[in-house]
Amino acid sequence: MPEARAAYLCGMTALSITADTMSGIEKVPLERYVAPAKPSLVGMSRAVLAQALADIGVPQAQHKMRVQQLWHWIYVRGAQSFDEMTNVSKELRARLDAHYTLARPEVAAEQISVDGTRKWLLRLPGEQATGRPHEVECVYIPDDGRGTLCVSSQVGCTLNCSFCHTGTQRLVRNLTAGEIVGQILVARDRLNDWADRSTKNETQTRQITNIVMMGMGEPLYNFDAVRDALLVVADGDGVGISKRRITLSTSGVVPNIARAGAEIGVMLAVSLHAVRDDLRNQLVPLNRKYPIAELLAACRDYPGLSNARRITFEYVMLRGVNDSLAEAKALVKLLKGIPAKINLIPFNPWPGSAYECSDWEQIEKFSEIIFNAGYASPVRTPRGRDILAACGQLKSASEKLTARERMALRAMAMTE
Ligand code: SAH
Ligand code: SF4
Repeated sequence: MPEARAAYLCGMTALSITADTMSGIEKVPLERYVAPAKPSLVGMSRAVLAQALADIGVPQAQHKMRVQQLWHWIYVRGAQSFDEMTNVSKELRARLDAHYTLARPEVAAEQISVDGTRKWLLRLPGEQATGRPHEVECVYIPDDGRGTLCVSSQVGCTLNCSFCHTGTQRLVRNLTAGEIVGQILVARDRLNDWADRSTKNETQTRQITNIVMMGMGEPLYNFDAVRDALLVVADGDGVGISKRRITLSTSGVVPNIARAGAEIGVMLAVSLHAVRDDLRNQLVPLNRKYPIAELLAACRDYPGLSNARRITFEYVMLRGVNDSLAEAKALVKLLKGIPAKINLIPFNPWPGSAYECSDWEQIEKFSEIIFNAGYASPVRTPRGRDILAACGQLKSASEKLTARERMALRAMAMTE
């Protein structure tokens, strides 16, 4: 993140003005997270959990065993109260309850589509001064033999991609690791997707098999919380979704791509969307700071790349903007040598958006060039026609489009 050049107060909110702010790459302000008096244990690493136990007087000799118990109850059984933890003494349960909670984000609304896609609107604590809560969305997309959860990393986004609705939101707050992990716990709660508590059956097939960090926000602008959360989620003794089934999507925060490789090790998706800097500067203004050549160099260096572990390049199809067949050819050329998948995402319009989705025939022709260059079939016809439909239908229904549809469409592009 760029350094703050100056800070001043506007109403109740601290604004920091940076060089990037002034050039339109980023907007501010970041709202503060106000921790509750009783913190939730959800999202804490093992080390932080051990410290939480130490803070309430649990002797160090017990830390390892107690952390393991808590981990199991929280992440395998989905416990929502300390009372459920039958192998923890009553006295310790009471002490835990006096100081901590197992709270996850509150579900403000749930929508279920006929095809099983679900969206949860989650309420998070807001600014203390105004008391207004913050909201993020989390979407579950079931598919043949897999279920993908699309998770948010920020309330809103500081970046200003011109085709993205989240980018228009003024209010931005980083989610905590607990709020990120909490989205997965909430989804498991609502899907009844926990190990069976009565039979101790831990091996039943899970409904959530994949995670994509493709909801609201730029995950690499909230690096530490996203890293801590994903390491909790990938832990084999807990939620247990392996790093190969977790994909982090970035608009191209180049310095943090290497960090993501070294410190998180999940699959990477890059929102490319254009093959020339002049166009990408307009679509993804962060490109002015980290142009295509630098971005692709960081991708080439991403650790562990192979044919089995490829980077996904996302390319939103905007009619007459980036969808010519010459651009398809240039895209293939640009990515040469990088183990890559290309996901063409039909643009999902929103009220007031300045773009239109490419015609379906154009998307097909574009995709054919990519396919003929040896990349796996990149576009998926959206299922769930009641909410997603084809591009044209989406456009005419744009007034009714919700974040669920937009996110589901994107996340579906990832689930091939
Ligand atoms: N900030 C991250 C992750 C969240 S956005 C990123 O930009 O990668 C997830 C994906 O959805 C990105 O590829 C983004 O470019 C794309 N996207 C955003 N708005 C869209 C829209 N209206 N239609 C289609 N794709 C969109
Ligand atoms: Fe932020 Fe991603 Fe939207 Fe760009 S596309 S504004 S980085 S959420």
